[in-house]
Amino acid sequence: MYDPKSMKAEEFISDEEIRETLDYAEKNKDNLELIDSIIEKAKLRKGLSHREASVLLACENEEKIQEVYDLAEQIKKDFYGNRIVMFAPLYLSNYCVNGCLYCPYHLKNKHIPRKKLTQEEIKNEVIALQDMGHKRLAIEAGEDPINNPIEYILECINTIYSIKHKNGAIRRVNVNIAATTVENYRKLHEAGIGTYILFQETYHKESYERLHPTGPKHNYAYHTEAMDRAMEGGIDDVGLGVLFGLELYKYEFAGLLMHAEHLEAVHGVGPHTISVPRVKHADDIDPDEFDNGISDDTFAKICACIRVAVPYTGMIISTRESKAVREKVIRLGVSQISGGSKTSVGGYYEPEPEEESSEQFDVSDKRTLDEVVRWLMEIGYIPSFCTACYREGRTGDRFMSLCKSGQIQNCCHPNALMTLKEYLVDYASPETRAIGEKLIEKELDNIPKEKVRQIAKEYLESIEKDGKRDFRF
Ligand code: SAM
Repeated sequence: MYDPKSMKAEEFISDEEIRETLDYAEKNKDNLELIDSIIEKAKLRKGLSHREASVLLACENEEKIQEVYDLAEQIKKDFYGNRIVMFAPLYLSNYCVNGCLYCPYHLKNKHIPRKKLTQEEIKNEVIALQDMGHKRLAIEAGEDPINNPIEYILECINTIYSIKHKNGAIRRVNVNIAATTVENYRKLHEAGIGTYILFQETYHKESYERLHPTGPKHNYAYHTEAMDRAMEGGIDDVGLGVLFGLELYKYEFAGLLMHAEHLEAVHGVGPHTISVPRVKHADDIDPDEFDNGISDDTFAKICACIRVAVPYTGMIISTRESKAVREKVIRLGVSQISGGSKTSVGGYYEPEPEEESSEQFDVSDKRTLDEVVRWLMEIGYIPSFCTACYREGRTGDRFMSLCKSGQIQNCCHPNALMTLKEYLVDYASPETRAIGEKLIEKELDNIPKEKVRQIAKEYLESIEKDGKRDFRF
């Protein structure tokens, strides 16, 4: 029985409801009157239900798809301006007791080197990441209660926050670790994490169980209900995601939106972010073995439909995607990207020798952070290293209120410019800096309030002249 308010996985992600939704979407994919009315509703920027959004995803009418793309682009501009938040993953350990068929860290992989960073190694990695200019990390680890217990993760978070090297600092640590208990989520919350990220991988229960044949991750309900436990443990910001390629994308799309609706219905606040990874080649993993790979065009359509369906939810894209794909989906709604990433355990401080690679998957976008930052500016975006909301306590519904208040342009925009300025002064190449300085000059005019603009100018000057850092609105 479908019930978005239920706390049972199989009731808030009801297989029957998804099948009926897909059926409804298929039947209505040429119903232009209905599609127009859904697009009109999406224009109100209050989101769409999973059924409505699924109709848009099923629609194959070129003209209507273009309308959805245009709207996604407009919503992106209205809510996120031209800012793109930057982050990097940091892999702590690839010890794992699970049997995930798509991941090379699965227990049966006996030849991949198993690594776990010591606190000293973390310090070196973090200094290397700070020296690139990063301020925001997503930490990643396999699931292994012996090798990576929660105490280890907490110790790593403490170490990461404690390192202040030159003008560097990691100001927000997001956490992507396996589903855990309320008690452990409370500990993560108390350690000051930003977003708790957990990809569902697939919402299709049967496929989920087949793809996770062994280990604690096999338990579909425990995994699917993790975000409720995280919120019960005090974590306001949670990040959803699906690993596209494992199951039919239309099924996953409906499941993802139902999950968002469930969080909104139960906790009064939807997911902070949605990630859209696709299965990639990795050590002993061939993505072609999974039947449901999607084309770049379908991928773009999914991103656009997510954007119009949940306008307040940030969307994340990693270096799994190429420069070309990233450029396309940034326009359609992605608000956060990684840059200069390594998916190995260690590797920022000292590159891993190829024969000892501990990489989780191949990276498509291999550019340095400086190159990514420059590229973003050249194509009209402001790379932002901002972490202000989290540090000002604007998480969960308080962040959503800021979004809805229309004050983003007086708050996030100057914060983006100030953190970009820090990046330019401390880390950028001369060429990137030259482009960035011009951009900041131009973008200052886009701060609506005169008073805020004036203060932002003073702060920017102080970053340059007095060496001060970490201003924020
Ligand atoms: N072990 C934790 C868990 O089970 O959720 C942490 C996540 S893992 C380090 C990060 C994510 O990488 C996984 O949730 C999965 O979606 C993704 N991943 C695993 N293998 C992948 C592959 N071959 N290609 C792309 N992404 C992959």
